[in-house]
Amino acid sequence: MKITGLTVWQKTLPLKKPYWLSGGRLKFEALDSTFVRIETSGGLVGWGEGCPWGETYLPAFGGGIRAALALLAPVLLGENPGDIERLNRAMDQALPGHPYAKAALDAALWDIAGKRAGAPLFELFGGAEGEGVAVNSSISTGTPEEMVALINAARAQGYRTHSAKVGGADIAADIARIEAIEAALPADEHVTYDVNRAWVPGVAIQVMQAVSGSARGWFEQPCETLDQCAVVAAQTTQPIMLDECLHTFGDHLEAWKRSAGQGCKIKPNRLGGLTKTRQVRDFCVAVGWQMHVEDVGGSVFADTAALHLALSTPVENRLASWLSHAHLVDDFAPDEGARNRGGMVRLDGQRPGIAVEPPEDWLGQPAATYR
Ligand code: MG
Repeated sequence: MKITGLTVWQKTLPLKKPYWLSGGRLKFEALDSTFVRIETSGGLVGWGEGCPWGETYLPAFGGGIRAALALLAPVLLGENPGDIERLNRAMDQALPGHPYAKAALDAALWDIAGKRAGAPLFELFGGAEGEGVAVNSSISTGTPEEMVALINAARAQGYRTHSAKVGGADIAADIARIEAIEAALPADEHVTYDVNRAWVPGVAIQVMQAVSGSARGWFEQPCETLDQCAVVAAQTTQPIMLDECLHTFGDHLEAWKRSAGQGCKIKPNRLGGLTKTRQVRDFCVAVGWQMHVEDVGGSVFADTAALHLALSTPVENRLASWLSHAHLVDDFAPDEGARNRGGMVRLDGQRPGIAVEPPEDWLGQPAATYR
């Protein structure tokens, strides 16, 4: 079997409502997603999606993904789609970096591999661990009362684990948000306070020490850099989840060596694909870290691809996964793929591969084709 062609689509995915994070520094209203279909001589096709969370969250943007795909497509044409590890190395040699473009292509290769095997992707990643993955809510920054109300609304949709966005220069406001959420949260629910890099180390230490007696949850990416997070970790008692400062396997190794956290978010688009994310996942399992396995953003396709990896991650190392598609206006495959069903995602009974495919009439005219 040979790769005979690649087709690329651009698709704008509006959010249901504007999304603020990092203490109100960053605002998002739509995602610029790129879908890729790899076609083969055997007739099988594989799908992938590259989707940053806007242009300001991390160093990636939709136009950059599509430009990188023009350089990466010739690397794959004519090759065996089953040579996934070798093709990842060939892409890295042809174009260093550009993880979101490679993530779309790598997902499409895995989609073909699953279809060839006649198996859902999670079986190729080691098999299901448990019956489903808990879903994480996403609670936008607001007043303490607003955030508690959003958590109550999420609970009505089945969510039992929550990601509450905090972080800003006003130390008292953040302490008030955390104390209000802790007071309102039932004992059997979990919360992560996601700072999205908004604190400098001195502020992080003050807030975390002030709530050390009451806050049960994780603190996520308190500061901009790995160095700064390591300073905070050395002077606070709560577990720290790392996210935006981790881009490569080496970043995770460095974070672990320096005890900069006890867990991390692993996201195929940020790390350059399912292949590289699985390597990171296996390392994190080996060192005893806990993980949220999910993607940076995108449609139900990106969510489902990441959830195959989440489902095959040991239960003791796996925290809840967030679903980007729940925040989008458009849904091309209602009820298919990774869906929140009473606070859990289940992938049993799925078709082979990633098992969600965007319809061409939903995608519109291709942005590029490579033959
Ligand atoms: Mg985060």
